[in-house]
Amino acid sequence: MEFSFDTTQQELLNAVEQFGRDQLVPMWSQEADDENRFLTDAWQAMAEFGLMALPFPEEYGGAGVSALTVCAAGEGLGRAGVDAGTVLSYGASTILCGVPIWKMGTEEQRQRYLPKMCSGEWIGGFCLTEPGSGSDAASMKTKAVRDGDEWVLSGSKTWITNGNIGHHFIVTAVTDPEAKPRATGISTFIVDADAPGFRVGRKLDKLGCRTSPTTEIFFDDCRIPADAILGPENYGFVMVAKLILGWERTCLLAPALGSLHRATETACKYALERHQFGRPIASFGAMEEKIAQMRLSYEVAWGLLYRVADLLDRDEPCLVEAAVAKTYISEAAVRVAEDVVQIHGGYGFSKEYLVERGYRDAKLGTIGGGTSEIQRGIIARAIGGF
Ligand SMILES: Cc1cc2nc3c(=O)[nH]c(=O)nc-3n(C[C@H](O)[C@H](O)[C@H](O)COP(=O)(O)OP(=O)(O)OC[C@H]3O[C@@H](n4cnc5c(N)ncnc54)[C@H](O)[C@@H]3O)c2cc1C
Repeated sequence: MEFSFDTTQQELLNAVEQFGRDQLVPMWSQEADDENRFLTDAWQAMAEFGLMALPFPEEYGGAGVSALTVCAAGEGLGRAGVDAGTVLSYGASTILCGVPIWKMGTEEQRQRYLPKMCSGEWIGGFCLTEPGSGSDAASMKTKAVRDGDEWVLSGSKTWITNGNIGHHFIVTAVTDPEAKPRATGISTFIVDADAPGFRVGRKLDKLGCRTSPTTEIFFDDCRIPADAILGPENYGFVMVAKLILGWERTCLLAPALGSLHRATETACKYALERHQFGRPIASFGAMEEKIAQMRLSYEVAWGLLYRVADLLDRDEPCLVEAAVAKTYISEAAVRVAEDVVQIHGGYGFSKEYLVERGYRDAKLGTIGGGTSEIQRGIIARAIGGF
């Protein structure tokens, strides 16, 4: 299998990186991070640049580019050093919410939601995780019961990105409690935040990605129209899980790939500037080893990520490849972010240099969207055939 960037993809990556450095990076502030504040200006700038429109067909206001091209743009954001919170909110809306509406929605649903998501006017979210079900998502308790022309949802979700800023959410709920396996009794719905019985709970305080708001969501006999179901009754969860898997593990991971590239630059710059024992610290073997390892991680991650994006664009299965990419890139991002802090010594531990934020932000990758342990299970079962 061979793939490489075409000119447009390379140009997009460069343009997004430049845009990120010039416009988005200056919008972040320590104060916003301390206050867990969503960067509305950054969101609007990203929308005007056209990032929210990238994957969707032109008839819905999109740019209609491939998953690989969306990843190139994501890598640009990471290379620029755009804060991971802003990038997470973008991914949750465009990829986790927008892509299922595009791929599984009726024509009416696409027409209603996608144009305003492409323009950035409407922010979306994805409600799967519950207080009692994370990795074992199919054991969810939220249920939906049909009542005439409506569905009535009851239950709660947690860790919902964009929970208090979202206009609408993809929500999974049990529609056949007797189904075996359980996953085949779970449907998916599009729920507007102004639906009666939809309630936003606590805003959760977090280690990193702090400019991305994360909340609980409650469904108190929340009533939505019958045609708000997304995909087939009882099979929406299975469909969305398969669909999201490839998209999430490429497009949401691409900024982490870019962060590996950026980390190498940041580390080199500091290691050349900082002198100890009368020499730049870059001249010490221990520092060289770390910087070389960063570059190695980037090169390996590059191949893994774009291989999955290429499979996705060719509509080929990518379960194991995506699990490998997710595990490797998210863990490399944590390792590399830690090494950047280490190279900066005490200054790395301070808030003066943004490397401290990079370290905190990187950790989410090994937890969100399927933990490293769950990914390793997928890989091991594929190897062992069990
Ligand atoms: C900042 C943030 C944003 C998020 N955004 C969203 C969102 O928008 N929408 C959404 O639906 N969810 C979201 N999540 C939830 C996220 O997807 C879950 O946190 C994740 O899937 C893990 O679930 P959990 O936290 O319940 O951990 P658990 O499933 O309770 O896992 C705890 C530990 O047990 C391990 N473990 C569990 N099962 C196994 C197993 N079979 N084998 C080996 N180890 C196992 C895990 O790897 C982990 O180390 C978000 C989370 C965070 C932190």
